[in-house]
Amino acid sequence: MRLRSIGRWRDDEDPDLSRLVDPQWCDGESEELSEYLEYGTLLGVLLSGPDRCRLCDFGFPQTFVLTDGVYMWRQLLHHYVGAHKVRLPEPVASDMLNRLHELQDAKQDTAWWRDLCGTTLAPRHGSSLPKATPPGAPRGVGEAP
Ligand SMILES: [Zn+2]
Repeated sequence: MRLRSIGRWRDDEDPDLSRLVDPQWCDGESEELSEYLEYGTLLGVLLSGPDRCRLCDFGFPQTFVLTDGVYMWRQLLHHYVGAHKVRLPEPVASDMLNRLHELQDAKQDTAWWRDLCGTTLAPRHGSSLPKATPPGAPRGVGEAP
């Protein structure tokens, strides 16, 4: 598996961050993409220390690396997109938004979960077993003989 690393502008060979800022970018799209970037699957935490924005003082005490299974990015990328309107080049932005919209439109299959739990879980200890009455003990009111 190969993940595409995006949002890098640390080295001289990396894209120039200031060229990606687009103040005219639609607020709704930048906010939606920012939220997508904020909550990916955590791949790991870099030991490089705090991750600070290069355009303001915002930052995280640690550098979290997230993925959606196709792309990987530092969590701080959501801040660049949401707060500074750093516009990710195509097809990255449309890939992410299309994936998000597909997931939002997906139908829920709740029967699958019920079937799985009903067929694969062991019975809870003692919950389905009749209570044993010690020999000679008086029966409780309403108990079957
Ligand atoms: Zn910033």
